[in-house]
Amino acid sequence: MYTVESDKIKIEKTSNSRLGTYDIKTSKFGSQLSDHMLMVDFKEGHWQDARIIPYGNLSMDPASCVFHYGQALFEGMKAFKSKDGQVRLFRPEDNARRLNLSAKRLCMPELPEDIFLDGLYELIRLDSAWVPDEEGYSLYIRPYMFADEAFLGVRPSEEYKFMIITAPVPGYYPEPLKVRIETKYSRAAFGGTGFAKAAGNYAAALYPTMLAAKDGYQQLIWTDAKEHKYIEEAGTMNIMFVIGDKLVTPSLESETILAGITRDSVLTVARDWGIEVEERKVSVDELAAAASDGSLKDVFGTGTAASITFIDSIAYGEQVFQLPPVPERDLSNRIKKYLDDLKYGHVEDPYGWVKDI
Ligand SMILES: *Cc1c(COP(=O)(O)O)cnc(C)c1O
Repeated sequence: MYTVESDKIKIEKTSNSRLGTYDIKTSKFGSQLSDHMLMVDFKEGHWQDARIIPYGNLSMDPASCVFHYGQALFEGMKAFKSKDGQVRLFRPEDNARRLNLSAKRLCMPELPEDIFLDGLYELIRLDSAWVPDEEGYSLYIRPYMFADEAFLGVRPSEEYKFMIITAPVPGYYPEPLKVRIETKYSRAAFGGTGFAKAAGNYAAALYPTMLAAKDGYQQLIWTDAKEHKYIEEAGTMNIMFVIGDKLVTPSLESETILAGITRDSVLTVARDWGIEVEERKVSVDELAAAASDGSLKDVFGTGTAASITFIDSIAYGEQVFQLPPVPERDLSNRIKKYLDDLKYGHVEDPYGWVKDI
């Protein structure tokens, strides 16, 4: 097997840095890309030619498989910088591992974790000046893989690219979201690709999300594809409920839910803080009952973009479940702050989640 040690990654530096040519405060999320990108090719049965090169266009054959049959997956993570200049990543090994779960389901070659991690660390070190050091700001990191064999027949591609690009992003403090429970469209079905971070899952979610936006909802809550009775995710985030004193979230058993790293972090911290956690089916009926008897204390989404995103209200048909004001949501506010403190190095990391770069 081919392994990449750091000195095996060829690095070609840009002679034309764009650092300082943009204003992060006014730029849109992900619209300013950093100076360099990582690229690794899969050819003749193995990964080869790991290189970091100036950010720029790709040249691709129009017959590249990815355009036709959609073998494409991605990951999402962030780098954080504290005032002392230290750059940190949060649980990067978990992204490397999850990439390979997705790859397997999409019949794409697994990427040795050391290629992912060495490539990532080298890229972030090279572009470390792109990691903003203001609290709340970060460098968004997008690893992805796609099929690029030029071939129109339907079969798994024999050639792929793995790439990482990065973009400095401002603090992301969305207003609490108004959402509605989706009862017609589905994100994922049993036996499908819901547990994989497949690009196609996102393509299929755009239309129902747009319909909800037209009706004034910033996100959907996905329900199971068969009966639309059980809660699955909140848009592109995992979803959690505080019902009474318990933290409740849909379990991963059905494989229709993406196993978020933020989800796992929140559950781990909550358990360590002595909170009772339940991973199980959560029905819409249970939510409606908890909303009406006042035991539904909090609902929030979890994901890399904002760690915790509060939900303001949930519409379900004619009903609206209104959640308490955000300042009253003790547990989620505490966990959000704690995760931020870990990422910016303000507190000791007892979990081994934070990786200094
Ligand atoms: C990426 C993603 C999440 C969140 O995962 P994190 O690892 O916490 O960022 C949740 N749901 C879906 C559908 C996703 O694609």
